Amino acid sequence: MIDDFAKALPRRSSIGVKVGSVTVGGDAPVVVQSMTNTDTADADSTVAQVAALARAGSEIVRITVDRAEAAAQVPRIKERLERIGINVPLVGDFHYIGHKLLQDYPDCAAALDKYRINPGNVGFKAKRDTQFSQIIDIALKHDKPVRIGVNWGSLDQELLTKLMDENAASDTPVSAAAVMREAIIQSGLLSAERAEKLGMGRDKIILSAKVSQVQDLIAVYADLARRCDYALHLGLTEAGMGTKGIVSSAASMGILLQQGIGDTIRVSLTPEPGGDRTREVQVAQELLQVMGFRAFVPVVAACPGCGRTTSTTFQELAQDIQDHIRVSMPKWREQYPGVESLNVAVMGCIVNGPGESKHADIGISLPGTGETPSAPVFIDGEKATTLRGPGIADEFKQMVLDYIEKRFGTG
Ligand code: SF4
Repeated sequence: MIDDFAKALPRRSSIGVKVGSVTVGGDAPVVVQSMTNTDTADADSTVAQVAALARAGSEIVRITVDRAEAAAQVPRIKERLERIGINVPLVGDFHYIGHKLLQDYPDCAAALDKYRINPGNVGFKAKRDTQFSQIIDIALKHDKPVRIGVNWGSLDQELLTKLMDENAASDTPVSAAAVMREAIIQSGLLSAERAEKLGMGRDKIILSAKVSQVQDLIAVYADLARRCDYALHLGLTEAGMGTKGIVSSAASMGILLQQGIGDTIRVSLTPEPGGDRTREVQVAQELLQVMGFRAFVPVVAACPGCGRTTSTTFQELAQDIQDHIRVSMPKWREQYPGVESLNVAVMGCIVNGPGESKHADIGISLPGTGETPSAPVFIDGEKATTLRGPGIADEFKQMVLDYIEKRFGTG
């Protein structure tokens, strides 16, 4: 569901950047991206993970290019992905020796759709400017955009020291945290300015300035957004594990997105051992969807349940439908265009059941404590039928599938 209110919110004006086939910034919707955690030199694992992330809905995928063995595999990874129908833009993440890898492996430079440069990690200090220029020259030669991605944990120490000294000598010194935030912003802006002086167009530059604390992220991006019109990549770095990572990312990015700031987002979650990497894509999509900016998968609304709930049937039914939708979406996107805007409601009793169900495209109100064992089903706001007996859950699930076929089927 694209929310009318969200659509009406003013968006910060930014210059659109083409990353492969995907536009970041300008009038384009906010793009979801993610990053692999496989060794890029291991092409099998990397192809599998990029494919999984793309199938889950990641519209851009970043891979680590940290050494010769990894750079050598990049063109092969790209080819293999294309052979299986995965055309997601690939971004190379470079630190320390990016200039050398891009120079020594021109096929890698050509295969990637964007280069990520960390201004704090472009080789050793004395050679930083030269090496930065080398990367920009290669990007220009291959007509590739770059992301100048500053990170709190690898900030340009020279710049930070200079700003700290200036602050100490100032009549109106600010806090050390404020100086740090300013250093992060300046590092990104100065590097972007340098890239422009080297001939790179503004339509080839994306900026990011990642920090690990919610309030810092909001402050840094709000300031950065005021001071430039480059497309911005949002992300909270080291967001953490489990619910903490999700809540922190949603809180910080949600506030910025509401202010119209952010052209692409990555939710960085520390995976649980053996955990599913695609979780971060799901969280990023859900953040954009619950805020009404984009629609990716049908929404299943369910009440929380309470003492009026007679069984766990409604939770199981809601979960069952949600799981079925998630698994089916890759196929449904082609089979049922527009299905991502579908709203389903599964409610536990008549207190809020009929009302919520009427607002959904299709909804059911299961019987609560003391209610007649029947379940009214509403379709497009009208009561369509009442289900009874032990097969309510299965019958409703089938009704949802029939509704999808009827409304979104093209056959
Ligand atoms: Fe409880 Fe009914 Fe409200 Fe669900 S709809 S939370 S079962 S009162």
